[in-house]
Amino acid sequence: MAKYPIVHLPDDEPYRVWRLFPDTFIIHYGEALDTFLLLGEEKALLIDTAYGRGEFPNLVDSCIGDRELLVVNTHGHYDHTAGNPFYPRVYMHENAKAYADRAFGPQDPAWVANMPYPNYEKIAIDDGYVFDLGGRTVEVLYTPAHCDSSLTFLDHGRRLLFSGDEFDASQANLNHLGSVRAFLKNCKRLKEREAEFDFIMPNHNGSPVEKGYLDDFITCAQHIVDGCPDTVSRDGLPEYMVGFWGDLTARAEVNLAAINYVALEPEEFMSKVKIPGVD
Ligand SMILES: [Zn+2]
Repeated sequence: MAKYPIVHLPDDEPYRVWRLFPDTFIIHYGEALDTFLLLGEEKALLIDTAYGRGEFPNLVDSCIGDRELLVVNTHGHYDHTAGNPFYPRVYMHENAKAYADRAFGPQDPAWVANMPYPNYEKIAIDDGYVFDLGGRTVEVLYTPAHCDSSLTFLDHGRRLLFSGDEFDASQANLNHLGSVRAFLKNCKRLKEREAEFDFIMPNHNGSPVEKGYLDDFITCAQHIVDGCPDTVSRDGLPEYMVGFWGDLTARAEVNLAAINYVALEPEEFMSKVKIPGVD
């Protein structure tokens, strides 16, 4: 019998679950959102709780056997954190605590009330923290650019790099030129560690992806920082590829790596845009 009672909603989207390795699951929700479940000998690590909709906690439960479950967020945006209250405690970066529970819009009250831990404990972790799952360690890197709470995870067991929303197979969604500089610095740091992983696992738009993306993202970001961006037209692109900032957004592309950003310094950016619930 399923462990968690579920409140189903009319706009719940379907899940697809598959094994990448015998001890590594991808739990895919709707069109393009992935969460990841890593099994060690003693513990399991759930990377993000997506929207927490439908049978999410039961799907996770059905994969972990009798292992203790640890839950962590790549960052504090609601498409990665909404299912957190199914669990008594969730690891995240300190900055995520302020907005991890901030929904993008109104939530169904019966669905919210169904989750057992509305005041779940938020445990801050930072660069250098290591999850030991038993025969499998996962190292935490702090990589803020898309978001000020972004954590990247280096799975030493299966040689995977979990990049959250810092970048995915379609783009990096950034804010201003300061974000692009931070992104470039982070990518260069990951590049220095690339001998330690074989594939990159973003949360959106396809996972895994090959690590050559990192080279293209570095080139793309470097050209923006140097004032010679590889700008392309955003006309006709699907909504998920146009970035967050309307007509202020520029898109630069190098091979398959694209960066959506606003070509303004942070102060000017803050004066021009209205920051929505997501920041
Ligand atoms: Zn996301």
